[in-house]
Amino acid sequence: MEQISAMVWRYHDAFGSTSYLVVGKTRAVMIDCSMEPGPIMPRIQQITNLPVDLLLTHAHPDHYGAAAEFEHIWMNEKDIVALDEMEPVFAGMGVKPLPRAQLHAFGDGHVFDLGGRRLIAAELTGHTPGSTVFVDETQKAIFSGDAVGSGDIVLMAVPKAFTLSAYRQSLAAFLGRSAPWAEYAWYAGHWHQADRGEGKVRNDPCRALIEDMIRLCDEILAGRIVGDAVQESFAPDGVAYRAYLGRAGIVYCDHQKK
Ligand SMILES: [Zn+2]
Repeated sequence: MEQISAMVWRYHDAFGSTSYLVVGKTRAVMIDCSMEPGPIMPRIQQITNLPVDLLLTHAHPDHYGAAAEFEHIWMNEKDIVALDEMEPVFAGMGVKPLPRAQLHAFGDGHVFDLGGRRLIAAELTGHTPGSTVFVDETQKAIFSGDAVGSGDIVLMAVPKAFTLSAYRQSLAAFLGRSAPWAEYAWYAGHWHQADRGEGKVRNDPCRALIEDMIRLCDEILAGRIVGDAVQESFAPDGVAYRAYLGRAGIVYCDHQKK
């Protein structure tokens, strides 16, 4: 793990997923825990001996490969509801199911108190029904998982993802409440996603990206932007569409154009 700011460490796994260890005075949390089966706890214990809970940004297995090592796993109640339906779809990825007995639900606005440091759960749904970002007002940081992508696209061509109009609504609601966090640094779930040889410049998530994403949804819904067809293994017929506007990029299915 590499330290990236005061009491925050980042872990890139071998599959391109990125997790974060956030340490307070009395507790620590791991935000997502990679797709690797672990063990991840020895890496954490090199940094802190405080109790460590796992906070999941959303219910996709590339973010919870090592979850069983955590006594307490927290996930948005809406993704817990969707979990039974989603896990079989992703079974081919080879990640063990989330251990239900260790799983706790939180809702929008839930505060995780780490001692001298608080993380606020703020829903930014759409990629999954319960996608959540964790806001650290002390360190002025937002841990965003896959809610708006990681610099290239947000992947909406996955089971249980919202329609574009519903996603637009989530983005607008988040934009409305997040003005106090406008200058915060964003830490996303796949740090290396952008610039895979396509010559694209990385667009780290930020408030301006959310504004562009709203416009992009509007343009696609109005038919003024039509994405390029791409193959997507989790799309219903294997085909999705990739579109960009400004800082924003999205991969969506035809059935989501409503
Ligand atoms: Zn995801």
